[in-house]
Amino acid sequence: MPTVPPYVASLTPYVPGKPIEEVEREYGVSNVAKLASNENPLGPSPKALAAAREAAAKVHLYPDGSAFYLRTALARKLGVTIEEVAVGNGSNELLELLVRTFVAEGEEVLTSANSFVVYRLASQAHGRTCVEAPMREHRYDLRAIAERLTPRTKLVFLANPDNPNGTYFTERELLAFLDAVPKHVLVVLDEAYIEFVDASDFPDGLRLRGGRPNLVTCRTFSKIYGLAGLRLGYLVASPEVVGYLDRVRAPFNTSLVAQAAGVAALSDDAHLQRSRALVASERPFLVAGLRALGATVWPSQTNFLLADFPGRSGKDLFEALLRESVVVRPMGGYGFPTAQRITFGLRAENEKFLAALERILGR
Ligand code: PMP
Repeated sequence: MPTVPPYVASLTPYVPGKPIEEVEREYGVSNVAKLASNENPLGPSPKALAAAREAAAKVHLYPDGSAFYLRTALARKLGVTIEEVAVGNGSNELLELLVRTFVAEGEEVLTSANSFVVYRLASQAHGRTCVEAPMREHRYDLRAIAERLTPRTKLVFLANPDNPNGTYFTERELLAFLDAVPKHVLVVLDEAYIEFVDASDFPDGLRLRGGRPNLVTCRTFSKIYGLAGLRLGYLVASPEVVGYLDRVRAPFNTSLVAQAAGVAALSDDAHLQRSRALVASERPFLVAGLRALGATVWPSQTNFLLADFPGRSGKDLFEALLRESVVVRPMGGYGFPTAQRITFGLRAENEKFLAALERILGR
């Protein structure tokens, strides 16, 4: 058996949710409500689906390695130039590619504890140290992160809003942080859930780029656009940053089908509005329902909630919900042993979840 570097041997793999079919088989249940992976319960944009079907007939061809039409459509929509846009196999690939491209041996990644685990995984997979500052009341503490900047810090990951906490930091907090960061340090704003935000003091990374060539904004087609299964994400950064990523990435990192669906999804405003409206109605519904059942719930700007059930093993509650054919996500791996993350489903699914939870908690 060939050996691997010690930083690979010590990696713990990302644990995704189980396939629904497997859950149904294992627990003898059907009609499962999947509230586990922050997906869009309305499904993909019909326009994107039609474009994907059409593109599927051409998959004997390689995709356009420069994703020209998709990057053009993104640039137009976002008000930037095509040279400032990079796309990836999910924004996950871009997060990892940023580490691979920019963080040299001996340099470090900095982020928040209890945030998206991929920041740590991507760093460790490349043998880079990932320093984590503590959160404060389930929110990013940008001051605590700034205090941990050292001459070795090369890249900072900031999820806004955060997964799994659902909370956010304000524009004022971000501006103060950006002032504290040296210009040779990349600040990566991960805005995977920005389309669900309604807070007026939320910073839009794209608007803050002027004079800050070290600012990178990552977004995704996996959440509001409902294309998680196609794997498509993008980032906006300076042309220099995009140019370096281009040298390191695989030549055909986004598929022909994903590119076509992405272009179409960007033109489907109706789907976007429906998806946003669903979250706007389900967020308060689930917050109220969960609080009525005694859960501690943090205010969310996303399409999911972090709910804590003090004294209840996260794993046990997760399994009890599975037996009621509801799948949520236990948060032990994120440092919250008694919490679950619940993605907003359709109203009927959310009602089913609350009813199941009430039965379980009442037992
Ligand atoms: N960033 C955050 C904060 C996320 O929650 C996710 C999805 N779980 C991603 C990035 C990656 O999403 P994708 O690779 O599907 O674009």
